[in-house]
Amino acid sequence: MKTFLKNSSAISASLADLGNIRGITSREVDAIQKQLGVNSIRELIPFISNGQLETVTALTPLQIKNIKRGLKLYKTAESRFPLWDAYLMGEELSKAIRQCPEVEKVMLAGSLRRGKDTIGDIDILVQLNDADRRKLLYKIARMPQVENIIAAGPHHFCVVLHNQMQADIRLAPSRYFGASLLYYTGSVKYNAEMEELAASKGFRITPEGLMDSHTGEYVAGEQEVDIYRKLQLDFVAPELREDHDILTAAAVHEIPLLVTFDQLKGDMQIHTNWSDGAESIAGIAKYMSHAFPHYHYIVITDHVSSTRTNHVLHPEDVFRQIAEINRVNALMGYDYIKKGAEIDILENGEAALSDDILQQFDWVIASIHSDFSRDNTSRLIQICKNPYVNCIGHPSGRLIGIRKPYPVNWDEVFTAAAASGTAMEINSRPNRLDLHDEQIRLAVSKGVKMVINSDARTLTHLDFVKLGISTARRGSCRKTDILNTGSWNEIEKFKAEKQQLLKK
Ligand SMILES: [Zn+2]
Repeated sequence: MKTFLKNSSAISASLADLGNIRGITSREVDAIQKQLGVNSIRELIPFISNGQLETVTALTPLQIKNIKRGLKLYKTAESRFPLWDAYLMGEELSKAIRQCPEVEKVMLAGSLRRGKDTIGDIDILVQLNDADRRKLLYKIARMPQVENIIAAGPHHFCVVLHNQMQADIRLAPSRYFGASLLYYTGSVKYNAEMEELAASKGFRITPEGLMDSHTGEYVAGEQEVDIYRKLQLDFVAPELREDHDILTAAAVHEIPLLVTFDQLKGDMQIHTNWSDGAESIAGIAKYMSHAFPHYHYIVITDHVSSTRTNHVLHPEDVFRQIAEINRVNALMGYDYIKKGAEIDILENGEAALSDDILQQFDWVIASIHSDFSRDNTSRLIQICKNPYVNCIGHPSGRLIGIRKPYPVNWDEVFTAAAASGTAMEINSRPNRLDLHDEQIRLAVSKGVKMVINSDARTLTHLDFVKLGISTARRGSCRKTDILNTGSWNEIEKFKAEKQQLLKK
């Protein structure tokens, strides 16, 4: 219900607007009106929630499904999609729409633009002249990604894609494209706060522009930033538009300058075919030096374990791997590849490998790979005290939609991490995104350094860091909060500081 409310223009719509939905004619609208005794979409919604729409005799199951989809109520019955799937599909669809010559501009909106870890549906905003609307609808209906057009109103097309995701494509002219983008990016809570703040300054925010409350005249709306400026606010990045009172910071110019993808200098968790990855060290290095030209280093972190048998590197093979890394680095002409490891944290919080092996590595990530249901606070605090452990991998252990995070007192763990000079990972795998935004904000406020990693097993996984970046941005991270925006020298300094601290 909440997701529907963001589209308040649809709520105020009359019942006749159901006629924009595929397969619904005035005959069905009349039947709904008579049999349920409703006169508006607002009145209809409770009947959809309690299942009474199904009792209207004139409606087929497909028509009922289309009405729910058209009103954005259908997805409550379906699962949400991982951010990565929505991101790929959103980019693909935007690109296809952008290729239509009548289209002037295309932007992703909604929770996808805000970088939420799961996405209900894809929101896309298109700038074009009203006269070209029919042409665009015709082209969208024929796009290979589109299975079905569910609804087509004057400024809104709702489509179902072949992967069963729903996309809402909204149209706006250049005059108020920014106002629509702001409105359809949300969140609901953020929009309500913006509306309240605008009202206190004599304005009204609508998808058609910022209006003067007294005269009703249009004041601004071509770009989002025009509206912020009129309201004397700093621009708020979409990732921060949730319910944590960011507008107070925007009013006093305290919005953090958020980290960006091109500021990353390296990826510090990559698995190869020496453990559970698919690619060779040389293959990864060659690919990355072309695909990520702004990276200065990468860290190979295969699972190293003396007790596990499958898909791990055994300690006695570590020196062979180091020799291979040296060989590839020699071919590249510099130490591009760093020698790392991902190791297990034992039940008592000790590292599963001895200090003399850990000392062989340039970077050690310690992760919990067992006992997912117990409280792991003491275990995480204990591992921070190991001078050779540099980072905690996927700290909360959650697998989105599969496994809940184990209980942890984050306040205590982050205090221990900051005090010991141990970094915390933002693992970018779409089903992890671990740590998540709220935890990151707490960690950073306690002075913990974060590392954004792909945790890649194949070359295509290396792109996941884009999700890590949006998660870091949702957690208010600046460039200086992210360790791997620094040079390798700075990382060496970070490691040396831990050793110094723990010696005292
Ligand atoms: Zn792991």
